Amino acid sequence: MKPGARDVRADAPDPLYEQLAAYAGRPAATAASGKDPVNAPMIRHWCEAMGDTSPAYRGPGAVAPPTMLQAWTMRGLAPDPESDDRTGRSPAYDGLLRLLDGAGYTSVVATDCEQEYLRPLHPGDLITYDSVIESVSPRKTTKLGTGYFVTTRMDVRANGEPAGTHRFRILKYRPVERPTERKMPLRPRPVINRDNAGFWAGVAEHRLLIQRCTRCATLRFPWLPGCNACAGQEWDTVEASGEGTVFSHVVMHHPSFPAFDPSGEGGPYAVALVELVEGVRIVGNVVGVPYDKVRVGLPVRLEFQRMDPDLELPVFRASEGG
Ligand code: ZN
Repeated sequence: MKPGARDVRADAPDPLYEQLAAYAGRPAATAASGKDPVNAPMIRHWCEAMGDTSPAYRGPGAVAPPTMLQAWTMRGLAPDPESDDRTGRSPAYDGLLRLLDGAGYTSVVATDCEQEYLRPLHPGDLITYDSVIESVSPRKTTKLGTGYFVTTRMDVRANGEPAGTHRFRILKYRPVERPTERKMPLRPRPVINRDNAGFWAGVAEHRLLIQRCTRCATLRFPWLPGCNACAGQEWDTVEASGEGTVFSHVVMHHPSFPAFDPSGEGGPYAVALVELVEGVRIVGNVVGVPYDKVRVGLPVRLEFQRMDPDLELPVFRASEGG
């Protein structure tokens, strides 16, 4: 048993395990061959990746690092139609995996491997191998989930001679279901760029800043790079007094968006276009009255409301009961 694993209801019958255990001893791959002979370029890349500078793996008479044993048998990342017939993967192994998948043990993790080296591999050696399903464990529960350990043993030959064995174990498991944390829904983040950064800097200081063209003195909101009245590029700012009235509004019913509903339930909420006494208009939430009491002409006053630890926004509080 693996560390941290424990039997699940050790005494309870497990019909699936009976079926799985019947695969032990059946071939996982038969008469398969490596994609490439043992070769110096792969050895060099391996040594570079591992930082292994041993002279045994270089030059005339070089051998392959023994731990490359599995590398010579790998199928590659993409299926290769011309060589798939040489992978020799058996219907038995596919059947075992299908049985596990079908029973809900759909996840897989490699847990460990053991290798035994019988003779050195040299560039030019032709690799062939057979693989057998050595064992299937009874059902175990690990931190990842409940499942079955499947051990395969690969017997590797070089030019027909036994060269090593590679024992490989996987856990096929059903992932632990973690209750999803109920997170407070967050509002979208504002997109802050060089054209509006000054506005958000003002919000951070609880000031609502309106741009003013320094050529023609026209106020503008939202922030823009140039003046719509005279095309002037230069500007400064004036701070809004905070007084305004609802110029227009909508009530959002659908789609539900809990982050915008003060109750967090995703119910209806009002969005107002507020006309500030300075003359510009700004979109925002009206607070202090129910969404269905917001009306055109409602007097409001600016305040700043913290929506979440990273977001503060200007909102408008109804200054009368509506
Ligand atoms: Zn202007």
